[in-house]
Amino acid sequence: MAEVPLKPAAGPASASGQPAPPESPAPPVPSKPPTPPASAGLFGLTLENTDGRARATRFATAHGDILTPAFMPVGTRATVKGVAPDRLRDLGAPVVLANAYHLYLRPGIDVVEAAGGLHAFMNWEGPLLTDSGGFQIFSLADTLAVDDDGVGFRSIYDGSTHRWTPEDNMGIQQRLGADIAMQLDQCAPYPAERGFVERAVDLSAGWARRCLAAHTRTDQALFGIVQGGMHLDLRLRSIERLHEAEQDSQAKGHKGFAGFGIGGYSVGEEHAVMFETLGQVASALPAGRPRYLMGVGNPTTLLRAVHEGVDLFDCVLPTRTARMGTAFSATGRMNLRNARYTRDFGPLDEACTCPVCAGYTRAYLRHLVKSDEMLGGILLTLHNLHFVIDLMRRAREAVLAGRFEAFYQAWMASPAAQDY
Ligand SMILES: [Zn+2]
Repeated sequence: MAEVPLKPAAGPASASGQPAPPESPAPPVPSKPPTPPASAGLFGLTLENTDGRARATRFATAHGDILTPAFMPVGTRATVKGVAPDRLRDLGAPVVLANAYHLYLRPGIDVVEAAGGLHAFMNWEGPLLTDSGGFQIFSLADTLAVDDDGVGFRSIYDGSTHRWTPEDNMGIQQRLGADIAMQLDQCAPYPAERGFVERAVDLSAGWARRCLAAHTRTDQALFGIVQGGMHLDLRLRSIERLHEAEQDSQAKGHKGFAGFGIGGYSVGEEHAVMFETLGQVASALPAGRPRYLMGVGNPTTLLRAVHEGVDLFDCVLPTRTARMGTAFSATGRMNLRNARYTRDFGPLDEACTCPVCAGYTRAYLRHLVKSDEMLGGILLTLHNLHFVIDLMRRAREAVLAGRFEAFYQAWMASPAAQDY
Protein backbone atom coordinates (compact mmCIF):
# COMPACT_ATOMS: atom_id res chain seq x y z
CA MET A 1 0.00 0.00 0.00
CA ALA A 2 3.03 2.25 0.10
CA GLU A 3 2.85 4.97 -2.49
CA VAL A 4 5.63 5.64 -4.92
CA PRO A 5 7.29 8.70 -3.43
CA LEU A 6 7.55 11.82 -5.54
CA LYS A 7 11.21 11.83 -4.66
CA PRO A 8 13.24 8.94 -3.32
CA ALA A 9 13.65 9.15 0.42
CA ALA A 10 17.13 10.32 1.21
CA GLY A 11 19.18 7.87 3.23
CA PRO A 12 20.03 8.55 6.83
CA ALA A 13 21.91 11.80 7.39
CA SER A 14 22.90 13.17 4.04
CA ALA A 15 25.95 15.40 4.35
CA SER A 16 23.99 18.63 4.53
CA GLY A 17 20.73 17.19 5.79
CA GLN A 18 19.06 19.29 3.09
CA PRO A 19 16.58 17.83 0.63
CA ALA A 20 17.11 18.46 -3.05
CA PRO A 21 15.52 21.66 -4.35
CA PRO A 22 12.09 21.03 -5.93
CA GLU A 23 13.16 22.20 -9.41
CA SER A 24 16.48 20.37 -9.63
CA PRO A 25 17.28 19.28 -13.20
CA ALA A 26 16.64 15.70 -14.22
CA PRO A 27 19.53 13.41 -13.27
CA PRO A 28 21.54 11.76 -16.09
CA VAL A 29 20.07 8.53 -17.42
CA PRO A 30 21.58 5.69 -15.38
CA SER A 31 23.32 2.87 -17.17
CA LYS A 32 21.04 0.31 -15.52
CA PRO A 33 17.39 0.62 -14.48
CA PRO A 34 16.99 2.52 -11.24
CA THR A 35 16.02 0.52 -8.20
CA PRO A 36 12.30 1.03 -7.60
CA PRO A 37 11.50 2.72 -4.30
CA ALA A 38 11.33 0.11 -1.60
CA SER A 39 7.95 -0.44 -0.03
CA ALA A 40 8.10 1.62 3.12
CA GLY A 41 7.08 -1.38 5.22
CA LEU A 42 6.12 -1.19 8.88
CA PHE A 43 7.64 1.97 10.43
CA GLY A 44 9.09 3.00 7.08
CA LEU A 45 8.91 6.65 6.11
CA THR A 46 7.92 7.69 2.60
CA LEU A 47 9.18 11.18 1.84
CA GLU A 48 6.42 12.34 -0.49
CA ASN A 49 7.70 15.82 -1.23
CA THR A 50 9.88 18.57 0.15
CA ASP A 51 9.58 22.33 -0.27
CA GLY A 52 12.58 24.14 1.14
CA ARG A 53 13.11 22.36 4.44
CA ALA A 54 9.38 21.56 4.84
CA ARG A 55 8.43 17.91 4.29
CA ALA A 56 5.31 15.90 3.46
CA THR A 57 5.76 12.32 4.63
CA ARG A 58 3.88 9.10 5.31
CA PHE A 59 4.90 6.94 8.28
CA ALA A 60 3.50 3.41 8.36
CA THR A 61 2.24 1.87 11.62
CA ALA A 62 0.24 -1.27 12.29
CA HIS A 63 -2.82 0.91 13.04
CA GLY A 64 -2.58 3.05 9.91
CA ASP A 65 -0.31 5.51 8.14
CA ILE A 66 0.50 8.85 9.75
CA LEU A 67 0.49 11.65 7.16
CA THR A 68 2.70 14.58 8.10
CA PRO A 69 3.02 17.39 8.98
CA ALA A 70 0.69 16.29 11.76
CA PHE A 71 -0.49 17.43 15.16
CA MET A 72 -1.14 14.67 17.73
CA PRO A 73 -3.82 15.35 20.39
CA VAL A 74 -2.68 14.60 23.94
CA GLY A 75 -4.56 11.96 25.91
CA THR A 76 -2.31 11.79 28.96
CA ARG A 77 -4.50 9.38 30.97
CA ALA A 78 -5.69 7.41 27.93
CA THR A 79 -8.30 10.05 27.14
CA VAL A 80 -8.25 13.32 25.27
CA LYS A 81 -10.26 15.23 27.88
CA GLY A 82 -13.91 15.49 26.86
CA VAL A 83 -13.48 13.92 23.41
CA ALA A 84 -14.66 10.37 22.69
CA PRO A 85 -12.56 8.35 20.23
CA ASP A 86 -15.22 8.42 17.48
CA ARG A 87 -15.05 12.23 17.57
CA LEU A 88 -11.26 12.07 17.33
CA ARG A 89 -11.64 9.85 14.30
CA ASP A 90 -14.06 12.34 12.70
CA LEU A 91 -11.58 15.14 13.36
CA GLY A 92 -8.89 13.18 11.53
CA ALA A 93 -6.63 12.90 14.57
CA PRO A 94 -3.54 11.21 13.11
CA VAL A 95 -2.16 9.79 16.37
CA VAL A 96 -3.17 10.05 20.01
CA LEU A 97 -0.65 10.36 22.82
CA ALA A 98 -0.79 8.73 26.22
CA ASN A 99 1.67 8.93 29.08
CA ALA A 100 3.44 5.97 30.65
CA TYR A 101 4.06 7.81 33.95
CA HIS A 102 0.36 8.47 34.55
CA LEU A 103 -0.89 5.08 33.31
CA TYR A 104 1.73 3.23 35.37
CA LEU A 105 0.45 5.00 38.50
CA ARG A 106 -3.25 4.86 37.51
CA PRO A 107 -4.85 2.47 36.68
CA GLY A 108 -1.64 0.44 36.60
CA ILE A 109 0.00 -1.32 33.67
CA ASP A 110 -1.50 -4.70 34.62
CA VAL A 111 -5.03 -3.28 34.21
CA VAL A 112 -4.30 -1.91 30.73
CA GLU A 113 -2.58 -5.13 29.74
CA ALA A 114 -5.48 -7.25 31.01
CA ALA A 115 -7.84 -5.10 28.90
CA GLY A 116 -5.88 -6.17 25.82
CA GLY A 117 -3.51 -3.22 25.61
CA LEU A 118 -3.95 0.51 25.31
CA HIS A 119 -5.86 0.50 21.99
CA ALA A 120 -8.52 -1.84 23.37
CA PHE A 121 -8.58 -0.21 26.81
CA MET A 122 -9.40 3.26 25.43
CA ASN A 123 -11.33 2.10 22.34
CA TRP A 124 -9.03 3.88 19.87
CA GLU A 125 -8.09 1.91 16.78
CA GLY A 126 -5.80 4.50 15.20
CA PRO A 127 -2.09 5.02 15.85
CA LEU A 128 -1.02 5.59 19.45
CA LEU A 129 2.19 6.96 20.96
CA THR A 130 3.25 6.68 24.57
CA ASP A 131 5.66 9.15 26.09
CA SER A 132 8.08 7.51 28.48
CA GLY A 133 7.11 9.67 31.44
CA GLY A 134 10.66 10.96 31.80
CA PHE A 135 9.45 14.53 31.34
CA GLN A 136 6.87 14.10 34.12
CA ILE A 137 9.40 12.57 36.51
CA PHE A 138 11.81 15.45 36.07
CA SER A 139 9.29 18.29 35.72
CA LEU A 140 6.86 17.48 38.52
CA ALA A 141 9.64 18.04 41.06
CA ASP A 142 9.00 14.67 42.66
CA THR A 143 12.33 13.27 41.52
CA LEU A 144 14.06 11.48 44.38
CA ALA A 145 17.39 10.45 42.95
CA VAL A 146 18.87 10.10 39.50
CA ASP A 147 22.03 8.25 38.55
CA ASP A 148 23.33 6.45 35.50
CA ASP A 149 21.30 3.38 36.37
CA GLY A 150 17.87 4.97 36.68
CA VAL A 151 15.62 7.44 38.45
CA GLY A 152 13.55 7.37 41.61
CA PHE A 153 10.35 9.36 41.86
CA ARG A 154 7.29 9.95 43.96
CA SER A 155 3.73 9.45 42.73
CA ILE A 156 1.79 12.70 42.30
CA TYR A 157 -1.31 10.74 43.32
CA ASP A 158 -0.44 9.15 46.65
CA GLY A 159 3.19 10.03 47.37
CA SER A 160 4.35 6.43 47.00
CA THR A 161 7.95 5.96 45.86
CA HIS A 162 9.03 4.22 42.67
CA ARG A 163 12.21 3.62 40.70
CA TRP A 164 12.64 3.11 36.96
CA THR A 165 15.58 1.95 34.95
CA PRO A 166 15.45 2.35 31.16
CA GLU A 167 14.72 -1.40 31.02
CA ASP A 168 11.76 -0.98 33.39
CA ASN A 169 10.41 1.82 31.24
CA MET A 170 10.70 -0.20 28.03
CA GLY A 171 8.91 -3.08 29.71
CA ILE A 172 6.08 -0.76 30.73
CA GLN A 173 5.69 0.85 27.29
CA GLN A 174 5.82 -2.54 25.54
CA ARG A 175 3.07 -3.84 27.81
CA LEU A 176 0.97 -0.74 27.07
CA GLY A 177 1.42 -1.60 23.39
CA ALA A 178 1.21 1.77 21.64
CA ASP A 179 2.48 1.94 18.05
CA ILE A 180 5.31 4.26 19.04
CA ALA A 181 7.30 4.24 22.29
CA MET A 182 9.69 6.99 23.36
CA GLN A 183 13.04 6.34 25.02
CA LEU A 184 13.43 7.29 28.70
CA ASP A 185 15.36 10.55 28.86
CA GLN A 186 16.15 13.52 31.05
CA CYS A 187 14.80 16.87 29.89
CA ALA A 188 16.80 19.80 31.27
CA PRO A 189 14.76 22.78 32.49
CA TYR A 190 15.25 26.30 31.18
CA PRO A 191 17.30 28.15 32.13
CA ALA A 192 19.87 25.58 33.21
CA GLU A 193 23.62 25.69 33.58
CA ARG A 194 25.47 24.31 30.60
CA GLY A 195 27.08 21.60 32.73
CA PHE A 196 23.65 20.35 33.82
CA VAL A 197 22.41 20.22 30.21
CA GLU A 198 25.60 18.40 29.22
CA ARG A 199 25.09 15.74 31.88
CA ALA A 200 21.44 15.34 30.82
CA VAL A 201 22.60 14.74 27.22
CA ASP A 202 25.08 12.08 28.32
CA LEU A 203 22.62 10.42 30.70
CA SER A 204 19.89 10.36 28.03
CA ALA A 205 22.30 8.92 25.46
CA GLY A 206 23.29 6.13 27.83
CA TRP A 207 19.65 5.39 28.51
CA ALA A 208 18.93 5.45 24.74
CA ARG A 209 21.48 2.67 24.30
CA ARG A 210 19.83 0.56 27.00
CA CYS A 211 16.33 1.26 25.66
CA LEU A 212 17.41 -0.05 22.24
CA ALA A 213 18.73 -3.24 23.83
CA ALA A 214 15.61 -3.75 25.96
CA HIS A 215 13.04 -2.99 23.27
CA THR A 216 12.03 -6.20 21.48
CA ARG A 217 8.43 -5.68 20.38
CA THR A 218 8.33 -5.76 16.58
CA ASP A 219 4.92 -4.11 16.16
CA GLN A 220 6.05 -1.06 18.14
CA ALA A 221 8.48 1.63 16.94
CA LEU A 222 11.05 3.11 19.31
CA PHE A 223 12.02 6.78 18.94
CA GLY A 224 15.23 8.23 20.37
CA ILE A 225 15.10 11.73 21.86
CA VAL A 226 17.50 14.60 21.12
CA GLN A 227 18.31 16.81 24.12
CA GLY A 228 20.88 19.60 24.56
CA GLY A 229 18.80 22.60 25.58
CA MET A 230 19.49 25.76 23.61
CA HIS A 231 23.13 24.80 22.89
CA LEU A 232 23.61 23.78 19.25
CA ASP A 233 26.85 21.91 19.96
CA LEU A 234 25.16 19.87 22.70
CA ARG A 235 22.21 19.15 20.42
CA LEU A 236 24.57 17.88 17.71
CA ARG A 237 26.48 15.86 20.31
CA SER A 238 23.17 14.31 21.42
CA ILE A 239 22.38 13.32 17.82
CA GLU A 240 25.87 11.84 17.42
CA ARG A 241 25.47 9.78 20.60
CA LEU A 242 22.12 8.47 19.40
CA HIS A 243 23.71 7.42 16.10
CA GLU A 244 26.54 5.66 17.94
CA ALA A 245 24.07 3.82 20.19
CA GLU A 246 22.10 2.80 17.13
CA GLN A 247 25.13 1.59 15.20
CA ASP A 248 26.27 -0.52 18.14
CA SER A 249 22.78 -1.97 18.49
CA GLN A 250 22.55 -2.82 14.80
CA ALA A 251 26.03 -4.39 14.87
CA LYS A 252 24.59 -6.85 17.39
CA GLY A 253 21.65 -7.55 15.11
CA HIS A 254 19.21 -5.42 17.08
CA LYS A 255 17.03 -2.61 15.81
CA GLY A 256 17.70 1.10 15.40
CA PHE A 257 15.44 4.05 16.10
CA ALA A 258 12.38 4.32 13.82
CA GLY A 259 12.26 8.08 14.40
CA PHE A 260 13.46 10.88 16.64
CA GLY A 261 11.86 13.13 19.19
CA ILE A 262 13.30 16.60 19.67
CA GLY A 263 12.81 17.23 23.38
CA GLY A 264 13.84 20.01 25.73
CA TYR A 265 12.37 22.89 23.77
CA SER A 266 9.25 24.85 24.72
CA VAL A 267 10.28 24.61 28.37
CA GLY A 268 9.93 28.32 29.16
CA GLU A 269 12.25 29.97 26.64
CA GLU A 270 11.05 32.57 24.16
CA HIS A 271 10.03 31.02 20.83
CA ALA A 272 12.79 33.00 19.12
CA VAL A 273 15.39 31.17 21.22
CA MET A 274 14.19 27.77 20.03
CA PHE A 275 14.30 28.86 16.40
CA GLU A 276 17.96 29.86 16.71
CA THR A 277 18.84 26.15 16.65
CA LEU A 278 15.76 24.11 15.65
CA GLY A 279 16.37 24.17 11.89
CA GLN A 280 19.96 22.98 12.25
CA VAL A 281 18.91 20.27 14.70
CA ALA A 282 16.14 19.01 12.39
CA SER A 283 18.49 19.06 9.39
CA ALA A 284 21.08 17.00 11.29
CA LEU A 285 18.57 14.16 11.76
CA PRO A 286 18.22 11.41 9.13
CA ALA A 287 15.96 12.57 6.30
CA GLY A 288 14.41 9.12 6.04
CA ARG A 289 12.88 9.06 9.52
CA PRO A 290 10.17 11.14 11.26
CA ARG A 291 11.12 14.17 13.36
CA TYR A 292 8.85 14.91 16.29
CA LEU A 293 9.07 18.22 18.15
CA MET A 294 7.73 17.47 21.61
CA GLY A 295 5.39 19.83 23.45
CA VAL A 296 4.65 22.45 20.80
CA GLY A 297 1.09 23.33 19.74
CA ASN A 298 0.86 27.07 19.18
CA PRO A 299 -0.38 27.51 15.56
CA THR A 300 2.33 29.94 14.47
CA THR A 301 5.06 27.92 16.16
CA LEU A 302 3.78 24.76 14.45
CA LEU A 303 4.08 26.37 11.01
CA ARG A 304 7.51 27.82 11.79
CA ALA A 305 8.71 24.37 12.88
CA VAL A 306 7.28 22.75 9.72
CA HIS A 307 9.22 25.42 7.82
CA GLU A 308 12.37 24.15 9.60
CA GLY A 309 11.72 20.53 8.59
CA VAL A 310 9.80 19.05 11.54
CA ASP A 311 7.04 16.47 10.88
CA LEU A 312 5.18 15.69 14.12
CA PHE A 313 3.94 17.68 17.10
CA ASP A 314 2.01 17.26 20.33
CA CYS A 315 0.88 19.71 22.98
CA VAL A 316 -1.83 20.20 25.57
CA LEU A 317 -2.19 23.85 24.51
CA PRO A 318 -5.17 23.54 22.11
CA THR A 319 -7.17 21.32 24.49
CA ARG A 320 -6.18 23.05 27.75
CA THR A 321 -6.93 26.55 26.45
CA ALA A 322 -10.29 25.27 25.13
CA ARG A 323 -11.27 24.09 28.61
CA MET A 324 -10.37 27.54 29.90
CA GLY A 325 -12.76 29.17 27.39
CA THR A 326 -10.37 30.27 24.66
CA ALA A 327 -10.82 29.37 20.99
CA PHE A 328 -8.22 29.48 18.25
CA SER A 329 -9.38 31.26 15.10
CA ALA A 330 -8.12 32.46 11.76
CA THR A 331 -7.91 35.96 13.24
CA GLY A 332 -6.26 34.99 16.53
CA ARG A 333 -7.33 33.82 19.98
CA MET A 334 -10.88 34.44 21.20
CA ASN A 335 -11.70 34.50 24.92
CA LEU A 336 -15.35 33.46 25.06
CA ARG A 337 -15.67 34.98 28.55
CA ASN A 338 -15.46 38.40 26.93
CA ALA A 339 -18.75 40.34 27.23
CA ARG A 340 -18.59 41.35 23.57
CA TYR A 341 -19.86 37.87 22.62
CA THR A 342 -23.01 38.02 24.81
CA ARG A 343 -25.35 38.71 21.88
CA ASP A 344 -23.05 37.64 19.04
CA PHE A 345 -25.03 35.06 17.06
CA GLY A 346 -22.37 34.51 14.41
CA PRO A 347 -20.29 31.33 14.13
CA LEU A 348 -17.25 30.88 16.37
CA ASP A 349 -14.80 31.19 13.46
CA GLU A 350 -16.23 32.14 10.08
CA ALA A 351 -13.28 30.54 8.29
CA CYS A 352 -13.64 27.17 10.09
CA THR A 353 -15.35 24.10 8.62
CA CYS A 354 -15.76 22.15 11.88
CA PRO A 355 -19.18 20.98 13.17
CA VAL A 356 -18.99 23.35 16.14
CA CYS A 357 -18.66 26.38 13.90
CA ALA A 358 -21.45 25.05 11.67
CA GLY A 359 -23.89 24.53 14.51
CA TYR A 360 -23.28 26.89 17.43
CA THR A 361 -23.12 30.64 17.96
CA ARG A 362 -20.55 32.64 19.89
CA ALA A 363 -23.36 33.75 22.24
CA TYR A 364 -24.28 30.16 23.09
CA LEU A 365 -20.67 29.06 23.54
CA ARG A 366 -20.05 32.07 25.79
CA HIS A 367 -23.14 31.13 27.82
CA LEU A 368 -21.83 27.57 28.27
CA VAL A 369 -18.35 28.76 29.27
CA LYS A 370 -19.67 31.40 31.68
CA SER A 371 -22.02 28.84 33.26
CA ASP A 372 -19.20 26.28 33.65
CA GLU A 373 -21.22 23.79 31.61
CA MET A 374 -19.03 20.88 30.53
CA LEU A 375 -20.35 21.12 26.97
CA GLY A 376 -18.57 24.46 26.60
CA GLY A 377 -15.15 22.91 27.12
CA ILE A 378 -16.05 19.91 24.98
CA LEU A 379 -17.18 22.00 21.99
CA LEU A 380 -14.23 24.40 22.20
CA THR A 381 -11.87 21.39 22.45
CA LEU A 382 -13.38 19.92 19.27
CA HIS A 383 -12.96 23.23 17.47
CA ASN A 384 -9.38 23.86 18.65
CA LEU A 385 -8.30 20.34 17.73
CA HIS A 386 -9.90 20.75 14.32
CA PHE A 387 -8.05 24.05 13.96
CA VAL A 388 -4.55 22.65 14.52
CA ILE A 389 -5.18 19.33 12.73
CA ASP A 390 -6.59 21.22 9.73
CA LEU A 391 -3.70 23.72 9.80
CA MET A 392 -1.25 20.82 9.49
CA ARG A 393 -3.37 19.21 6.74
CA ARG A 394 -3.27 22.46 4.75
CA ALA A 395 0.46 22.78 5.33
CA ARG A 396 0.85 19.23 4.02
CA GLU A 397 -1.19 20.01 0.89
CA ALA A 398 0.96 23.10 0.32
CA VAL A 399 4.18 21.05 0.59
CA LEU A 400 2.80 18.41 -1.78
CA ALA A 401 1.89 21.14 -4.29
CA GLY A 402 5.25 22.88 -3.92
CA ARG A 403 3.69 26.09 -2.60
CA PHE A 404 4.48 25.85 1.10
CA GLU A 405 6.62 28.99 1.16
CA ALA A 406 3.71 31.11 -0.10
CA PHE A 407 1.33 29.42 2.38
CA TYR A 408 3.79 30.06 5.21
CA GLN A 409 4.43 33.70 4.27
CA ALA A 410 0.69 34.37 4.00
CA TRP A 411 0.17 33.02 7.54
CA MET A 412 3.11 34.94 8.95
CA ALA A 413 1.80 38.18 7.42
CA SER A 414 -1.71 37.64 8.88
CA PRO A 415 -2.92 39.30 12.08
CA ALA A 416 -3.42 35.82 13.58
CA ALA A 417 0.30 35.04 13.39
CA GLN A 418 1.03 37.86 15.82
CA ASP A 419 -1.58 36.62 18.30
CA TYR A 420 -0.19 33.11 18.83
ZN1 LIG B 1 -14.56 25.38 14.21
